[in-house]
Amino acid sequence: MEKKIKYIHVIINPAAGKDEAILPVINSAMKEAGIKWEGLITHKAGDGIEFAKAAVKEKVDAIAVYGGDGTVMEAISGMMGSDIPLVILPGGSANVMATELGIPMDLKEACALLAQGHLKKKPLDIGQFGKRYFITGISIGFEADMVQGANRGTKNKIGIFAYFISAAKALRKLKKVTYHIKIDGKEHEVQGLTCMIANTGNMGFSTISFDKHIDVSDGLLDVLVLRKATISLLNHMIVTMIKRERPENWELVKHWQGKEISVTSTPAQTVQCDGEVLKEMPVNIKIIPGAINVLVPKK
Ligand SMILES: [Mg+2]
Repeated sequence: MEKKIKYIHVIINPAAGKDEAILPVINSAMKEAGIKWEGLITHKAGDGIEFAKAAVKEKVDAIAVYGGDGTVMEAISGMMGSDIPLVILPGGSANVMATELGIPMDLKEACALLAQGHLKKKPLDIGQFGKRYFITGISIGFEADMVQGANRGTKNKIGIFAYFISAAKALRKLKKVTYHIKIDGKEHEVQGLTCMIANTGNMGFSTISFDKHIDVSDGLLDVLVLRKATISLLNHMIVTMIKRERPENWELVKHWQGKEISVTSTPAQTVQCDGEVLKEMPVNIKIIPGAINVLVPKK
């Protein structure tokens, strides 16, 4: 029997990206459920971390976050080491983690699940890159706008096939590099266009999981190297997504799993962590299995 939620802190990013009423929706759902709640409004980067730390000290029953992946990540950073469950109320323009966990994008629906107790705990792996934590993953060498999902609206309109054609075009512009990859002590050298280290199956450039084998609770990070931008790669990606199986074509995509990973490339490529462009190379990362308990829909 899980502990009944009676008192929560809700970290709210009012600039999250969705134009909607926030407080009345949360308030009426919590009132109905008899949950006492306190709202904490973020004003600048880092506020979410401090609010989450304070909530942990106060031993609240759950920490809810209204915002996008960035706000969720801040809350998680402040919650590391605590077993207080996290509730995601999707409010941002990018909600990759909520999508991955099957949390409804509608605030009212997400609040109702919490209010009616239709949520269950799920352990969530968190990635660590130097001093920072990440939830979705890291990509090396992929065009910034492809990953950041700047054209999400367009993508939804043009559909997934058109999207992959444009992704393939973007990939074709990339120059092949040599990746030096170390996974749990074992070294690999492979040529390719882009390298992705994924915690979630959908890494922000598609709302559909890139690969069903990628699991946020298996204690492993998935390392993928796309080797060629050919029409077969396009076909490979579509089959992976539509048929939910991975054609084992190692000429096109190399795939490994591991707990401690380091990647460098010659020549160096751009690195993105949770959609944010970083300069750091080499990429030295590890996974912290089940670092956070997140509440997800029971169904
Ligand atoms: Mg995993």
